[in-house]
Amino acid sequence: MNYDEVGNLKIFTKTIYLNSLFINEHFALTNNSKYNLLHLAHTIAHEIAHCLRADYEPQEAAKHDFDHAFLTFGVANYILSTYEYHLLEHLAQLQRKNSTKKK
Ligand SMILES: [Zn+2]
Repeated sequence: MNYDEVGNLKIFTKTIYLNSLFINEHFALTNNSKYNLLHLAHTIAHEIAHCLRADYEPQEAAKHDFDHAFLTFGVANYILSTYEYHLLEHLAQLQRKNSTKKK
């Protein structure tokens, strides 16, 4: 966790680091379901749940308990319901289809 100062206001920020294997999968360079778009959405939801807990319960932020699972479930459902997720899903299918075509 870090923060930026705007005048007298401190704006706390968090950085989520993702496994680079998600990039290989995104560009259809690999075919590993562990790093597909659905798994990426769940991973982001998992990490956002840690960030949310850090805001309200800093001592509990690293735990993988019921509250973390509940938050992860809610965030994942939100991500999976967005237009952007469905657009990325469609683009990923096109990318994979085009990457297997003979050139
Ligand atoms: Zn975790």
